[in-house]
Amino acid sequence: MRILMWTRRHCCECQISKFKCQILDIGSFRHLFEICYLTFVIYNESMPKLLRLHTLPSDEKILRAKNSELTFPLSTKVRELIEDMKLTVKKAPGIGLAAPQVGSNLMLAIIHLEEFGIKSFALINPKIVSKSIRKTPMEEGCLSIPGVFGMVKRPAKVEVAGFTEQGKAVRIKADKLLAKVLQHEIDHLNAILIADKFVK
Ligand SMILES: [Zn+2]
Repeated sequence: MRILMWTRRHCCECQISKFKCQILDIGSFRHLFEICYLTFVIYNESMPKLLRLHTLPSDEKILRAKNSELTFPLSTKVRELIEDMKLTVKKAPGIGLAAPQVGSNLMLAIIHLEEFGIKSFALINPKIVSKSIRKTPMEEGCLSIPGVFGMVKRPAKVEVAGFTEQGKAVRIKADKLLAKVLQHEIDHLNAILIADKFVK
């Protein structure tokens, strides 16, 4: 249970709050909100929350542990974890986040490349099924190794098989930045960190 504070504007325009008002069946009390500029509303719906980023060296054990495959349909707990991870990577800010980086040893990653025109999405049980022979270097950083950047050489193109959060099987053919982010996150799911791959 959480307590949220909404402004009158939110409620009267019924943008964000309409659905929640219906849950509570307090839609008819909207004039109440016009009296009070700030109103506290109690409800049971969970909202995404920021998760603690697990970093080296203190969290190495979790970052190096084996990650388990997920089964469908996903549990409520895992669906909440996905929403929390989406918020966490957005706020960090980062372009990808794997579940072990927030302390969950699951085969789950979020790709967050909205800035580059790709809608943020969750990838479950991903595997690289093919990769180009040609490798290209790129400077990479990692939310689990704050402040450290280095050149990493990876295949320029990959094809990844996995599942959406709805359980739909997908294949992603990627090049450029998306190819690099997918490989970086899949490495996390196999307990590999960029520090293992820095070009000397
Ligand atoms: Zn990383």
